[in-house]
Amino acid sequence: MTDIKPSLLDFTQKELMQIVKPSFRAKQIFGWLYHQYAENFDDMKNIPKSLKEELSKKFIVNPLKIANKEISTDGTIKYLLELQDGKTMEAVWLKMKNTQLDDNGEVIQEAKYTICVSTQVGCKVGCTFCLTAKGGFTRDLTAGEIVAQVVTLKRDNDHKHNRKINIVYMGMGEPLDNLENLTKAIEIFKEEEGLCIGGKRQTVSTSGLSNKIDKLGEMYLGVHIAISLHAVDDELRTELIPMNKAHNINSIIEAVKRFPIDTRKRVMFEYLVIKNKNDDLGSAKKLVKLLHGIKAKVNLIYFNPYPGTPYDRPSKEDMTAFADYLIKHGLLCTIRDSKGIDISAACGQLKEKTQGELTA
Ligand code: SAH
Ligand code: SF4
Repeated sequence: MTDIKPSLLDFTQKELMQIVKPSFRAKQIFGWLYHQYAENFDDMKNIPKSLKEELSKKFIVNPLKIANKEISTDGTIKYLLELQDGKTMEAVWLKMKNTQLDDNGEVIQEAKYTICVSTQVGCKVGCTFCLTAKGGFTRDLTAGEIVAQVVTLKRDNDHKHNRKINIVYMGMGEPLDNLENLTKAIEIFKEEEGLCIGGKRQTVSTSGLSNKIDKLGEMYLGVHIAISLHAVDDELRTELIPMNKAHNINSIIEAVKRFPIDTRKRVMFEYLVIKNKNDDLGSAKKLVKLLHGIKAKVNLIYFNPYPGTPYDRPSKEDMTAFADYLIKHGLLCTIRDSKGIDISAACGQLKEKTQGELTA
């Protein structure tokens, strides 16, 4: 068993200044971590060897290794990342907007990217439609392991530290079930001399642990939330998301109403559309009623089938009719285009595929 060490990516700049003396060295190291994306101590050229040796006894720089990578034709890149203990999880590099050029071929606006990160290896929530749930729960990710996903993907895509990026906590795991490490990672991302990714560029997606939505709100981190709603009545929602028994739809809606939201922003409700389960206009009607009075935006997601699932992808006609109904009744709504559909885009699918290949 290899020696597992905490990562330097586990710390805020202030914490690093407690660990590394003199403090200007801590600042230099912080720069190496977040501006140069150093992978190991050897990368840190202007740091004295003795200090690096001392630190390397207790810490590792970047705890992740890229174990596999799938590149989609639409620019989506899905990464399988290996942790120090050999466990694996996923992060996805999503191209949201292409580079804009003027008539002379000069760049007017650079392409925009979002990184989808994992917060746990596996998940305890056990949603019946989700591939991550099939493998059960292994462990929480540390703050450093969450932070390292963004550093690793930015480095791999040669994305400079000062270029803007959005983060969505929508990879493997339930972020609010790992609240302490999640909020630490949010703080580290926000560091001005680090990656400087503000709260408004970070979106926490949750299956709806209402008490933890309140806790996150009370911390006033300025982050957005996305609620994985998926159903409008408790019976179906409990079938899809078993812990809906403890945190029912009403408790989630109430928690959302208490959540501090930037007045210019909206709460995103994700609605996974499954054929003959929740794709009818009766459900659309109930959804409109449920979200009445909330500054909401609905993101309709096509269910992405995988071998062995009992559920089907809805038809394009039903999806469009559902969206049209919402829009006609005043709800802001988008249909999530299936980014990376050719590379098994939904969470957990790359991990499953790679392990399947390994054991085949
Ligand atoms: N645990 C959190 C965040 C990770 S899941 C949550 O549930 O919100 C991220 C998103 O992937 C969720 O909205 C989930 O509904 C979606 N998802 C899971 N399995 C999917 C599948 N087979 N097809 C499409 N989306 C899926
Ligand atoms: Fe966990 Fe989210 Fe998958 Fe549900 S959808 S099992 S909460 S990762």
